[in-house]
This record gives sequence, structure tokens and C-alpha cells, in this order.
Amino acid sequence: MKIKRALKVRLYPTPEQLNKIKQTAGCKRLVYNHCLAHKNTFYECNIKDKDLTDEEKLKIYNTYQPPKIVDVKKEFPFLKDVSYKALEQCVQDLFKAFLNFFQGRADKPNFKKKKYHHDKYRENQIPVDFFNWNERLIKLPKIGYVKFANRKLPKWFNLKHIKPKNLTVEIVPSGRVFVSISCEYEASTADKVWNGDENQVIGLDFSPAKMFVDSNGNIAPDYKPHKQLHNKRLKRLKRQLSRRGILRDEHNKPVHDDKGHLIVVDSNNREKARIKVAKLEEHIVNCRKDWQWKEALRLCRSYEAVSVESLTIKNMMQFSRNAKNYVDASWGMFGVKLGWKSVFYNTQVIENSKWFPSSQLCHCCGYRNKTVKDLRVRKWNCPNCGAHHDRDVNAAINLKQNAIKHLETPIMGATVGSTGCYVCGGH
Ligand SMILES: [Zn+2]
Repeated sequence: MKIKRALKVRLYPTPEQLNKIKQTAGCKRLVYNHCLAHKNTFYECNIKDKDLTDEEKLKIYNTYQPPKIVDVKKEFPFLKDVSYKALEQCVQDLFKAFLNFFQGRADKPNFKKKKYHHDKYRENQIPVDFFNWNERLIKLPKIGYVKFANRKLPKWFNLKHIKPKNLTVEIVPSGRVFVSISCEYEASTADKVWNGDENQVIGLDFSPAKMFVDSNGNIAPDYKPHKQLHNKRLKRLKRQLSRRGILRDEHNKPVHDDKGHLIVVDSNNREKARIKVAKLEEHIVNCRKDWQWKEALRLCRSYEAVSVESLTIKNMMQFSRNAKNYVDASWGMFGVKLGWKSVFYNTQVIENSKWFPSSQLCHCCGYRNKTVKDLRVRKWNCPNCGAHHDRDVNAAINLKQNAIKHLETPIMGATVGSTGCYVCGGH
């Protein structure tokens, strides 16, 4: 099986190199926006508001001629200073973005903005000697060798067997610079078989504050809602940011514009405050990701099949008072990580249908108790067989039993209500 994988390392560029990276990212943004504007004009003249089917739209779109980079360069001579391949790649990306839009997979692409402080560009041609592990150097076109963080090289990253496809250089809002080396390689993965042992199957029921409750009655180990743990500090830093760099008059009173908004000017102190907020937000995301990867690894190592529910968290949040918990858990991303880990560990991830009433069914007799729909019911007795249930554990057991049914009948059937396995971004 072909596997796509990326190695992401932090770069430590010198000030000149950082400037050059920022310049390349800025030029890429300019070319992207320039081409997007050109394309938008074509779209509005020929396709928009016309009674056409998707196929006809695509046909017209295929006749479109994008502006050549050589011509754009003539208009903006400073583009010569940066890597040509990075500019070429962004035009290709834009083409793909529009294709996704016409085929209904995505929204119409937007203009890239500088104010988000999040920039990246991709090099689709990698120099042969781009990677020097002993000296911890990576070669970027037109920039030269840049130092990267000293970390342990993962086992799979052996340049004799894998083929690096492209390099993505990314500047995140806190100002840190990363590079992802995306690679492709051939790997043999074992067939996913279940030997019929029910102990090797686990069901996970989503629970906002505890992340999940499993079918053995345990809650997720060491789970912490990280955003809420850091909320106090985050709030304070954001408050500081909102006070910095505000235009004031001679009496030190803030100046408002016509609409009554405060006028913000660029200032060093505002920039410092912004970086503080960005660093903390990054830390929260990293903590969450770290826990999720480790937990996904533990589950994939210990079980042969993991049964999860597929949820639309956005809809659930509307009816909940603890919506913050829902966001903090990031359940969808956890499913993706599980799917990705399962590729390497002979584990099946079974995603149950959204409409499978996992919490309403009694796992002993299968009776459906509709009163449990109310989220406030935490414990209930089955009116049919009298069994006493904890809401979450019962749901997890139902998910497990549903998964076992699915495993016993390997044909994807409508009989079990499973929608199949996660297709991860890995292959
Ligand atoms: Zn029952």
C-alpha cells in the first residue's frame, strides 16, 4: 500500500533567512490573489448566475486560460527574487481549489489576507541534497541551508526507501517557522482480521467533559479540557491585546471612527501582546493533539477493533449549556487520528451511523427507551427487563455490540447500520 506521510520540523532561520521566507510567502500571496482576481472576473462574466449544470460549468471552466507567471513577473519585477517553483505551485493549488468548488466539494476560494499572520508556501521541486541530518540542515530553494530543531529521526524516514514529494514552509501566528517534508513510500500492512474475541473490541461513547466512556465502564485516562484550563490566562492576555496600540487623542482618550469602533494602529507593544496570545493558543492546541495521538496509539495497540460514533458536534452544541466542552474535546479530529494510527496497527475503526440510537437501546434486551433522549437522564432502568443502566456505559456497550455485528458480517450491510470505516488522510 502507498502511504503518504510527512515529517514536520521546526526551523531556526537567521534574520536574513526569515526575511527571505516571509518575502517568498508574501509574493506567493500576491500571485495567488492576482490569479484569483483574474479568475473571479472570468467566473462572473461566463458562469455566475447562468442557468448551467455542473458539467457545463466545468466545461466552460476548462476553457479558462490562467495568467502566466512570466507575465505576472513583468508586472511585479520583485517576484524574480523568490523561488519560481513556489509561485507556480500556488497557481496549481488555486486551479485545484476551483475544481473542488465546481464539483461541490468546497466553497469558492477566498483571497488570502496578511492580517492573520499565518503564511505558507510549497516547493514542489526538492533539491537532491536538501536534507543534511548530521548538521541538522535543510536546503530551501533560493534561501539556502536553514538549521532545524534537533529531534529524533522517525524510523520510517529513511531517504533510501522513501520519496520526498514536496516541502511546505509555514510561518504560524506566534512567529515560529516549520517545514513539512511530505513523502510517499510503499509499505506492507497486515490484513485486518478479527479473531472473534469480544474482549478485543471496544466501544467509545462521546462524553463532553470526560472525552469518552468506554464499554468497560472506564473514562478516558488523563483527559483534560486544555482550553478551559488555560482560559483564565488566555482571557487576560486577550484583554491586554485589546488595550494595546489604540489611537489616542491629546487628552489620552481613545479615538473612535464613524461607526464607533476603536482605531487600531501598528505598535510594537500590540505586536508583543499578539504574540503572547498566539503562543498560548498554540500551546493549547499542541497539548490537545499530544493527548489525542497518545490515546489513539494506546487504543490501536490494545484492541483489534474500536467502535466510535459519528457525531455532528455543531448541532449538539446548540442544545447544550457546556458547548465549550464540546469544542475542547475535538471529537472529529480524534476519529481521524484513530483512523490514521489504525493503518499501522492491525486495528479496525468502525464508525457507527449518526442515526444509530446508541444511548436509547437497552444493551441487555434491545428495548428502545425514548425517554432517554433527554440528555439530563444519566441513569435509568429498563422498563422491559429491569436492568439498571448508566447512560454513557450503556451507549458504549451498544456501540461495541453493533461493531461486533458488523465484524461478523463483513459485507457492508444496511442491516447493522454501520457506515463503514474511517478513510484517513493517509492513503
Ligand atoms: Zn432491557
